[in-house]
Amino acid sequence: MPHEEWLIRGARLLLPDGVMGRGDALISRGRIAALGGRPAAPSGARVLDARGALLAPGLIDLQINGAWGADFALAPPEAIARAAERLAGDGVTAFLPTLISAPLPRLEAALGRIAAAAALGRGARILGVHLEGPFLAPARRGAHRRAHLRRPSTAEFERLWRASKGLLRLLTLAPELPGAAAVMRAARRRGVLVSLGHTAGDAGDFDRAAAAGARMVTHLFNAMEPFHHRSEGAAGAALTDDRLVCGLIYDRVHVGARAAALALRAKGPRSLVLVSDAVFALGLGPGRCRSGGTDYELRGGEFRVRGGPLGGAVRTLRACAAFFARDLGLPLADAWRLASENPARLLGERLGLAAGRPADLVLVDDGGRVRASFVGGRRWK
Ligand code: ZN
Repeated sequence: MPHEEWLIRGARLLLPDGVMGRGDALISRGRIAALGGRPAAPSGARVLDARGALLAPGLIDLQINGAWGADFALAPPEAIARAAERLAGDGVTAFLPTLISAPLPRLEAALGRIAAAAALGRGARILGVHLEGPFLAPARRGAHRRAHLRRPSTAEFERLWRASKGLLRLLTLAPELPGAAAVMRAARRRGVLVSLGHTAGDAGDFDRAAAAGARMVTHLFNAMEPFHHRSEGAAGAALTDDRLVCGLIYDRVHVGARAAALALRAKGPRSLVLVSDAVFALGLGPGRCRSGGTDYELRGGEFRVRGGPLGGAVRTLRACAAFFARDLGLPLADAWRLASENPARLLGERLGLAAGRPADLVLVDDGGRVRASFVGGRRWK
């Protein structure tokens, strides 16, 4: 496919590290060729007038189980690629398809399909896979089936790593389980980030895990011991340990606005990451649906196992960022960083608004609507 050239005129620029700029951006050969000022439009370049809208790095979703009817644990590569295209049109330019606990052979098969989808290279980039499980605490399993939870095993971790063809990037585990320390060491050797979650562990378990190299906490406040002033628990450790970046589902269902404000104050603007934790039902209309043998009900932004617990989230990461900004009284740009710059930094990806970087960009208005989005310079909206 020929490379598209675009000149985006008159945008507010969401530059790295809290800096805002103004000016134009030139996209050429899939990269940001020039940024700021008023470069002349090269012949053949298409011009897009931003009219003061925000040009921002694309959103990166570190935790998303499915979207627009595709469950990443079950869908064929073609359906995953179609979901990646829809995500790109909605401002998500990269993501980690996320798999929850399942029998090992099923996880291995899903990892193979996701690797095949990644090779198609359509829509949002698949930067890797997030395995949320199966080494999780039964007492805090949430929507994970008890029968699918396993004692941490380095042999099983290695099996899953091989099945992912190197795509395994993030592993959520409960650090207090016997064998977890060995799996954390194995993950580190493979360059897989460890995130702590679905855990019955206490502050001491989090402290030891952070010392062993754990970098993240999965959906802060959900599926862990809550904060109490005399028994601070996992949430207390997550909020106060500067070694740990915290993921947060801000869909107005999983976490309240004051808890989100507390998390932002405790972690600061660089150590909080918004995630969608969306499931296949994201983008579907309200009503009943079925996947993987389970019946679900979607109503008013809440997605539940029929007659049971929350079954995941159904808001896009873009909606979560917009909710976060509105409810906490922040400019959208500040919330956007939590879902773009921060996950990129955690993954060690050189993305963002700087000349020479890949053109994974979103032009977004103050209401959070996407006017244009690009992945590697290719326009998806
Ligand atoms: Zn979870």
